[in-house]
Amino acid sequence: MFVERKVREFINVDPLQTGGVLTEDARRMLVEWGDGYSVCDFCEGNLHEIRNPPVKEFVQELAEFLDCDVVRITNGAREGKFAVMHSLAKRNAWVVVDSNAHYSTYLAAERAGLNVAEVPNTGHPEFRIVEDGFAEVIEETRKKGEVVLAVLTYPDGKYGNLPDAKRVIRACHDYGVPVLLNCAYSVGRMEVKAGKLDADFVVGSGHKSMASAGPIGVLGMKEEFAKVVLRRSERFGNKEVELLGCTARGVPLMTLMASFDHVRERVKRWEEEVEKARWFCGKMEEMGFGLLGEKPHNHDLLHFESPQFYEISKRVKARGYFLYKELKKRRIHGIKPGRTRSFKISTYMVPKEKLEIVLEAFKEILEKYQSFITPPK
Ligand SMILES: *Cc1c(COP(=O)(O)O)cnc(C)c1O
Repeated sequence: MFVERKVREFINVDPLQTGGVLTEDARRMLVEWGDGYSVCDFCEGNLHEIRNPPVKEFVQELAEFLDCDVVRITNGAREGKFAVMHSLAKRNAWVVVDSNAHYSTYLAAERAGLNVAEVPNTGHPEFRIVEDGFAEVIEETRKKGEVVLAVLTYPDGKYGNLPDAKRVIRACHDYGVPVLLNCAYSVGRMEVKAGKLDADFVVGSGHKSMASAGPIGVLGMKEEFAKVVLRRSERFGNKEVELLGCTARGVPLMTLMASFDHVRERVKRWEEEVEKARWFCGKMEEMGFGLLGEKPHNHDLLHFESPQFYEISKRVKARGYFLYKELKKRRIHGIKPGRTRSFKISTYMVPKEKLEIVLEAFKEILEKYQSFITPPK
């Protein structure tokens, strides 16, 4: 069976997908290394030490890229978070997370048997994480049990907010609490130097932000934590227990490696991407869509409120799906079907000419259904 992916030629503004589009080299790797376990031809026991293909060299370069002492390949950002949490977990212990955290952070904690305490955000419309809240929440939580880790989502996947990581890390370290930066939406898009920020752990997502086929992720850490997180099996002395001995032993890793040169170059153009996202925001606001999250915005993940679309959805046959259908007609992909009250969109690596087409589409849709929108009083 072969299934065509019809939207592959569409303009893609899906925040989940804009950073995961493969490079040509990565696409060729898919076929070349697609056979099961082909990566393992010359493995001597550890994925990150394989010399042919040059995984070992890649992992060393990745450590430099992330500015971390030790790096491992994982099956995704969540698997990295889980490995860290599981190895640090104790009875009745806590992890402190920002309140914009991804659901997988909560699930990782739950699976590791950790309790979760949340640092609040400022609420509508900016939802900024209160950096100083980390100290307060750790202070309070310590009364209930040991705080073994803090997680900062950098940026979060709801609003694309980038909190002041240094400030959060400093505050947590004052209490002796290590910090994991969840960089699923940043590593591979913008420069993230974990060492410079003094982060103890960093996780990234290959399929989210590193032009890779998934599932694949990266986990970086300080040397002092490698002893705990990467401890070896008693029975199989060369296997790392938290990684179950091996992680992404297949073609996703080969695509991550194939795209790495491109990724290292593209992070240098991050400012242009932010500039473009802000320009797009400006145009959307002119049409009456309200940006949620930080203003001015510092990331390509944009979340807009769209009460006009909601009004329309109440009066058309397709209901909430009208927006998705209108965009599909125009060969634009990435706004979640059924959504109208608010929606997320990403401008990352989408050329300005194509964003102009997206803006024009929104304008046309608003005009087409003009009579369905009740003017604000
Ligand atoms: C996408 C995302 C994840 C999940 O990444 P995986 O690599 O698929 O596990 C985790 N955290 C955030 C903030 C995300 O946006």
